[in-house]
Amino acid sequence: MASRSQRSAKERDARSRAVRRVAEEPLLRGSLVVMRRTCGKQGCHCQTGEKHPSLYLAVRRGRQRTMIYIPASLEETVRSWVQNGRQVDELLDFVSQQCLEQLLEQKEQALGRVPHGAGRKRPPKERPP
Ligand SMILES: [Zn+2]
Repeated sequence: MASRSQRSAKERDARSRAVRRVAEEPLLRGSLVVMRRTCGKQGCHCQTGEKHPSLYLAVRRGRQRTMIYIPASLEETVRSWVQNGRQVDELLDFVSQQCLEQLLEQKEQALGRVPHGAGRKRPPKERPP
C-alpha cells in the first residue's frame, strides 16, 4: 500500500473534498426528471393540450428503483442533495482511478516485470471533478 505521502496532491484533495461532503451535507444518489401528466379533471386543458409538468426524483429505495414526486417547495433542497451526491460519486471515481493505476503498477512489480522504482508509469493526467 502506498502511504499517504505518496499520494498525489490531486488525489489527496479529491479525498478530503469527498470526506467533507459526506460528513457535512445531505446527499442523494438519484436524478430529477420532469414528467408530464394529465390530472383527470374533466375539461382541464391537459386532456387535449399541454399536460401538467411535475418533478420526480428517480432513485433507488432499498433494492427497488422508484419515482418520487417532489413538490415545488422541496425542489431546491432535493436539487442540492442530488448535486452533492453526484459530486461525491465523481470524487470517489477519481480516487478509484488513481488507486487502479497504483494497483496496476504494484501488479507489474509483483509479477517481476518492472524493477522497483524504475520505469514507473505516471498516473494519467486527469483533473479531479
Ligand atoms: Zn389537468
